[in-house]
Amino acid sequence: MFICRNCKSKDKFELMFSPDYQGKRSFSQCYNDKGEIEITVDGYVFVPDLRFMNEHAVCRYCGQIYMWDYDMEG
Ligand SMILES: [Zn+2]
Repeated sequence: MFICRNCKSKDKFELMFSPDYQGKRSFSQCYNDKGEIEITVDGYVFVPDLRFMNEHAVCRYCGQIYMWDYDMEG
């Protein structure tokens, strides 16, 4: 799980797409059987790392970017 260091919400985010991204930008998230968050973007599934989060994820509650950290307590 990822936690917003600003407001402490967990795994609540939207993705920022670059302006020249060509896909439909359909985005969903779920958890795999290891408890890791999985992101699906236009059919492509991956497990984001902290670098990805801090480059692309916007906190859905407070709107902050670059504020993610791993939530070690699950
Ligand atoms: Zn936040």
